[in-house]
This record gives sequence, C-alpha cells and structure tokens, in this order.
Amino acid sequence: MDPSNPGTTGAGRPEHPDGAMVEVWRAVAERGPASLSLFPGLEGEPVVGWVNQPMLDLLGSDLRDLLDQPLIVGSDSSWQSVVNSLILREQGGQDAGVLRRLDETSMDVLVDVVPLPAQDDSRPEDHRRWLVMLHPRQDAQTTAGVALAAAEQRLRAVAEQAPVGIFVSEAGIRLGFVNQRFADLLGADLHRLLGTTWMQVIHREDRAALLESLQKVLEGTSVDLTVRLVTGDEDHRWLRFRFAPTLTAERAAGFIGTAEDVTERRAKEERLAYQATHDPLTGLVNRRRLLDVLKGLMAGRRDHDRDFALLFLDIDGFKEINDRYGHEAGDRVLIEVARRLQRAAREYDVLARISGDEFVVVLRYVLEEEEAENTAQRHLRALEAPFVVAGQNLTLTASMGIAMPGAAESPEDYLRVADRLMYAAKATGRGMYKIASPPPTAGGQT
Ligand code: GH3
Ligand code: MG
Repeated sequence: MDPSNPGTTGAGRPEHPDGAMVEVWRAVAERGPASLSLFPGLEGEPVVGWVNQPMLDLLGSDLRDLLDQPLIVGSDSSWQSVVNSLILREQGGQDAGVLRRLDETSMDVLVDVVPLPAQDDSRPEDHRRWLVMLHPRQDAQTTAGVALAAAEQRLRAVAEQAPVGIFVSEAGIRLGFVNQRFADLLGADLHRLLGTTWMQVIHREDRAALLESLQKVLEGTSVDLTVRLVTGDEDHRWLRFRFAPTLTAERAAGFIGTAEDVTERRAKEERLAYQATHDPLTGLVNRRRLLDVLKGLMAGRRDHDRDFALLFLDIDGFKEINDRYGHEAGDRVLIEVARRLQRAAREYDVLARISGDEFVVVLRYVLEEEEAENTAQRHLRALEAPFVVAGQNLTLTASMGIAMPGAAESPEDYLRVADRLMYAAKATGRGMYKIASPPPTAGGQT
C-alpha cells in the first residue's frame, strides 16, 4: 500500500451514500494538519478509516498498523483517550493530550475532534464519523496559540469570501487587514492600502464626516456612515461604511469595518422617493408632499415659518379642452400651466399640482393681504398669454382662493379653506380670486 496515498481501504472510497461528503472532508484533511478519521467498524466501535501523511509522520507509524484498527486507549492523558472523551461529547472539541511513540519519545499535542457531517441525519450511525487532528505543541501557551491561529484563519477565510469590503485597523485608522473586495471598491491595490492612509479616495467634502466617525468608533461606539467615493471621472459612487470598535488588552483601540457600494440602491430609493412625492406629468410636488411641507411649516420652530399664504388655483372650463382637443392636448396645457406658474413663483415658494387642474402655491413669508393679492395676480397674469393647442390660440383663465396665515389649524384645513374660497370666486365669474384672513374677509377681483 502506498503510504503517500492513504485511506484507499476501509471506508475511504465512496461506497456509502454519504461517501461523497466524506471525500470532501478527506480532501480538506489531506491538505491540513496531521489528521485521521474514525468510522464505525463492524461492531460499531470507531476504527481508523484513513490517515494523512503528516499524521503518519507524527505518529511514526505505518499505515497498515492503523487502518481499520480502533485507537488503543492508553493512560488518561494519552491522545487516544483524549479523543475518546471528546467523542463522548456530541460536538467533539479540543483538548490537550500526550503522544507516546513506539520509540518511547513523547510530545504534547493539542487534540482536535470534529464530527464529520452526514448527508442523512436520520441515520444516527453517521454521527459516529469523526475527523481527528493532532497539533504538536511546544509549551502551554501554544494551545491558545493554535486555537487563536485557527480562529484567525477561519475569520480570514470568511472575510476573503465575503461579498462586502472588510477592513480591520491595527491601531487607530491604520489598516492591518483588508479583503480583496475592499480594495476593489476603493479601486486601489490591496497591498498599498495596508498600513497606509486610504482617505484620499473619499470625496473631499465627506472626509470630515468620515474622520469624525472614525474618532467615534475609536472611542468605542459603532458607526454607520454613507460617503461619496471619488472615482476619477465626474460622477462618484456611494459607499456605506459600518464600523465596530475593537479593543484588546494587547492592542490600542481599533475597529473592524465593512464597506458596501450602495450607489444603485440609493439611486433606486431616490427614484422611489421622487415618484412618491411628485406629479409625473408636470414634475411639481404632489398633494402628499404638499401636505408634508405644510405640516413642516406649521410645526416650524421659527415664527416666520408659519407666515405663509395658500393660493389654490383651478383652471376654468378645463374639461372643454379635453373634450374638444383630446386628453393629450389637455396634458400639454397642464404642463404649460405648471411651467408658467413656476416662472411666476419666487424660488422659496412651493408649487404643487394636487389633482386634475388644481394647483397650489405656498407663498412663504407673506403676512399682508396686499402682498398675497399681488402675487395671486401675478400668477393669473402668467396664464393670460394664449396657449397654442392643435395649432390654435386658446385663452385660459383660472379661479383662485387664498388662505392667509392662521386661516386653518391643519394642512388639510388650509386646503379646504382655500378650495372653498376658490369655488366662491368661480361662482362670481371666471378669472377671479377670493382671499380670507382670520377672521375671513372676501377679496376682490383681478
Ligand atoms: P371648472 O370650470 O368648474 O373648474 O370645470 P372644469 O371643466 O375645469 O372641470 P374640473 O375642474 O371640475 O375638473 C377638471 C377636469 O380635468 C376633470 C378631468 O376630466 C380633467 N383631468 C383631470 N386630470 C387630468 C389629466 O391628468 N390630464 C388631462 N388632460 N385632464 C385631466
Ligand atoms: Mg377646473
């Protein structure tokens, strides 16, 4: 038998349904530390199924002496009895033991017993398959060292496969570990990121916020921050950083960070937020957003936040345009109305289309009726020039209601008050407005 290719007998080849699974573990173990596996023998007691070369070297044994044999249990601290007691625990585990060789030499080993996964959980005998690994150790400290190295290796493997960027600082903001994904995200060479400053790729305007976050994480608080990444050309990408503090006895404060490219997600969220708050036809804010704006102003901390008048505008006889020229022509008129009102509005006023042919202008910093009326007239005048529909000149008027500051207690009520005034204006004729302050007073004509 070729000892360099151990385990060709016993349960080494996939005869069992779970043989393929065992093969995977065997492949892993053959590249790893000194390992052997235990399989249920004829009587059900664990026997050696295969052995790798490092294990043969360590034991100084011949393959033939081991295969299909049970482990001979020696004194309490011998590695075989340690294996046995670890097997009695369902999950296996790690413990220290002593390896005594045929040549009478002995060495301290760390015994690692791992249950091999079975494909079929319904067969309890499958749980009696184990992977046994021996790690020689020089002194007591090595036990912890081996465990630590194994843990570190596991974390490194996880980090290297993770779909997010992972970076670990050694101390302060100096990076001691970064995965390939992190380097890719930053568009930088992995090795050059280590230990160097990596701040240059962050948008200049976001660096202060990032440094502030790093300060926080080094003080022990987890941080979640999204910043812009400079990509060389004009546009930038958005990176979401999450930092968790790490603090060990031996090391200065550091952190573990993850980085994710959230550019597409942000763009999608922004698109959805825009769609939820804007009228798709005219691009003006919609009723929902208008109510939010009003709510914000009414709850505003500053007195002059509440100094706004609400101008409610409804086109006169708009249905006729639809009926005569078609819905699409009507749409074009609505777009043009929005454009003209926008031009007539001041930049800090808010213009909304709240339904069909109803528009609202929030006139900010307005206290005097006269000022509101002047503005209303400016908006009405903006509609005076003829609209060209299907090659024809159409003239158009609108009716308006104006609610002055303090006219209502809620955003909805403001709309109701202004709507009612608009109807009252419409009832008196086309192109009129009515205005009401608390206590309500009727306004005049344009
Ligand atoms: P009034 O003088 O009393 O204001 O009557 P009106 O003809 O303007 O009709 P009203 O304001 O009561 O109703 C507005 C009409 O606008 C109703 C509907 O057919 C039409 N409309 C609503 N939304 C749209 C739209 O998105 N595009 C078009 N083209 N027409 C719309
Ligand atoms: Mg109308």
